Amino acid sequence: MKRNCDHTVEYLYRYMDQELTWYRRARVQWHLRKCGTCGDGHRFEQQVKMMVQRKCTETPPPELIDRLRTFLEENTRDQKS
Ligand SMILES: [Zn+2]
Repeated sequence: MKRNCDHTVEYLYRYMDQELTWYRRARVQWHLRKCGTCGDGHRFEQQVKMMVQRKCTETPPPELIDRLRTFLEENTRDQKS
């Protein structure tokens, strides 16, 4: 994974919570459009977040949890290598 991805993943959660500055948000948005890995991860994270907000009392579908876990494991592994 490119170095840019590390920063994007790092900012992804704060970006979703609208806690980043406009400059960082713009850079994350640009990267999400250019990078399929982070773009997929972001769309997937949004699905998780929407689901949590709508059905906070229900358990997420197993396939969604598996996809999230895979995405995070891949990023963790790439950061260490
Ligand atoms: Zn990326």
